[in-house]
Amino acid sequence: MVNNKMYELGTKKSTIRTIFEFGRKRAAEVGEENVYDFSLGNPNVPTPDFIKEAAVDILTNMEPSAIHGYTVAPGNPQVRKALADSINSRFGMHITEKNLFMTAGAAASITICFKALSQPEDEYITFAPFFPEYRAFVESVGGKLVVVPAQPEDWQIDFAAFERLVNNHTKAVIVNSPNNPSGAVYSEETIKKLAQILQAKEKEYHHPIFIIADEPYREIAFEGYTVPYIPKYYDNTLVCYSYSKSFSLPGERIGYIVVPDTVANFEKVYGAIAGAARVLTHVNAPSLWQLVVGRCANMPSDISTYVKNGQLLYQGLVDAGFECVKPQGAFYLFPKCLEEDDYAFCKRAQKYDLLLVPGTDFGCPGYFRAAYCIKTETIKKSLPLFKKLAAEYK
Ligand code: PLP
Repeated sequence: MVNNKMYELGTKKSTIRTIFEFGRKRAAEVGEENVYDFSLGNPNVPTPDFIKEAAVDILTNMEPSAIHGYTVAPGNPQVRKALADSINSRFGMHITEKNLFMTAGAAASITICFKALSQPEDEYITFAPFFPEYRAFVESVGGKLVVVPAQPEDWQIDFAAFERLVNNHTKAVIVNSPNNPSGAVYSEETIKKLAQILQAKEKEYHHPIFIIADEPYREIAFEGYTVPYIPKYYDNTLVCYSYSKSFSLPGERIGYIVVPDTVANFEKVYGAIAGAARVLTHVNAPSLWQLVVGRCANMPSDISTYVKNGQLLYQGLVDAGFECVKPQGAFYLFPKCLEEDDYAFCKRAQKYDLLLVPGTDFGCPGYFRAAYCIKTETIKKSLPLFKKLAAEYK
């Protein structure tokens, strides 16, 4: 009677959701302040004042139909121009409004790209650990998600494993840096090597292999870590950007796709992106929020809370005996569990009301994700509990 796949996607709760809901239940029982919920990637830094001021000014002073009316499908041309200018000045690019397509955030951007590119038997490569929604998005367009095993020493790329998995069916490689869940930033060396391998594979298979750069965390990179702008290194790159994390606007749904001129068959790819957005009933990205981000194109993100929280949690975990790669960006740590079974470990952590997400969900068993976009005070109070948890394994 209904599409079973859709039913399954709509009713089967993700582990993250289940843990989050368990947390809400525990908060009702023992008090909000006694639950240490590291499960969700919902930014806790308040949305900046300049966003509110821009929204209020637009709502007060602009014509309602110009604020709330349909925009052209790719998005308001002046907004796209403002964003293109900002990208050019930050990354030394030479794009214009015709290279941008406004979307309802990164999830929309990447799904539109998958839909736009997909042909029968296409494969999309991702690197473990990875954002679990990739599987749902890729499979929704009939694609196959291929996972490159993780390189846990530094969460960069295991290139030998990667090269074995690229084949004639590879349509695109998904790159997410700063990474959810590992908190790693891919180095320039990693990006250069990835580009070099893909250029060789494109020659070998006589067709483009795209990089889909999923970049909602681009602005959240810590001191000493630079996030290379991938189109500078690899021609066939589509950049999927979002303001969900950088300006703490996840509920408003606003972002964009960059399709640089260097992309093979630019007109076809951009046209297919417009077509994919159309059948996904995207119509246009939220028009008020297009105007707001257009005005705030050059405004900075405040990442100081994430810097502080990341350092605090990292040091606390290392002191308690956990193995963990230092925070480099985003707002996640991905430490090793103290037993092989990550589900059993996270279950045991729940005894202390520490809510952690098993790494298996991100294609990386034996690890757990801790999202530290929460109150600094909560992290401080959680550290003795991590110590107690670790003591159980000594
Ligand atoms: N990609 C990654 C890696 C994410 O972590 C998220 C959200 O958590 C998204 C995409 C989706 O972000 P958006 O809210 O912009 O759709």
